[in-house]
Amino acid sequence: MLPTPDCLRCGVCCFSKLETYVRVTGDDWTRLGPMAERVAQFIGNKAYMQMRDGHCAALEPRAAADGTRQYFCAIYAKRPETCRELARGSPQCEGEIARKGARPSASDISAGR
Ligand code: SF4
Ligand code: SF4
Repeated sequence: MLPTPDCLRCGVCCFSKLETYVRVTGDDWTRLGPMAERVAQFIGNKAYMQMRDGHCAALEPRAAADGTRQYFCAIYAKRPETCRELARGSPQCEGEIARKGARPSASDISAGR
């Protein structure tokens, strides 16, 4: 099995086609503060991170100077609890990579986004 990549080089668990992929609880919304309205949205009576281009809207795919891709979470310090619970190298992380590993490399990268 391949070693678990650095999260910055991976980003896989931030990809989904579901609008209800990343739940934002009341505590998460409070932690996000004024930026909550920009990155999260209500669907029905529950809040979720907005999704864009097949991944969480807070994920910033960038082209590094060496030509590789990097995946930044723009709200890392304030990210929802569900993101905090997914530990790198955990069975859930490995499952994400097994299921969706090709998605980041298939996604478009917009410079400076
Ligand atoms: S937690 Fe796992 S799946 Fe998520 S970015 Fe890090 S290495 Fe990739
Ligand atoms: S909030 Fe950050 S860590 Fe969580 S899914 Fe979005 S980009 Fe990934």
